[in-house]
Amino acid sequence: MTSGKTKERDIGLGLPQPKESCSDIKCAWHGKLPVRGRIFEGKVKSTKAKNTAIIEWGYHRFVKKYQRFERRRSSIVAHNPPCMKAREGDFVTVAECRPLSKTKNFVIVNVQKAKGE
Ligand SMILES: [Zn+2]
Repeated sequence: MTSGKTKERDIGLGLPQPKESCSDIKCAWHGKLPVRGRIFEGKVKSTKAKNTAIIEWGYHRFVKKYQRFERRRSSIVAHNPPCMKAREGDFVTVAECRPLSKTKNFVIVNVQKAKGE
């Protein structure tokens, strides 16, 4: 409240704070975006749209008829703030937030760079 500098907030997820700072108001760390609800970990599939990333993750679902698991995948659109710089192939953590646009209800809160891929 005293200084005008951008400062990381404690967003309450026990995640490491980002190294970089940004002035994006839609950033969970530096903006005014509260996060609550669901949290996902997934792989970045596309970052073609500005400040946006498509996150995809796979899971197994049991099919009773065949007594086997089928591989399924799910994807969501998340906000990619300038301080996160998530790129295709990165593993990211996304948290649910208020709707940011027609399709974006999630924001990237942590990035683990892809290793040797
Ligand atoms: Zn930020």
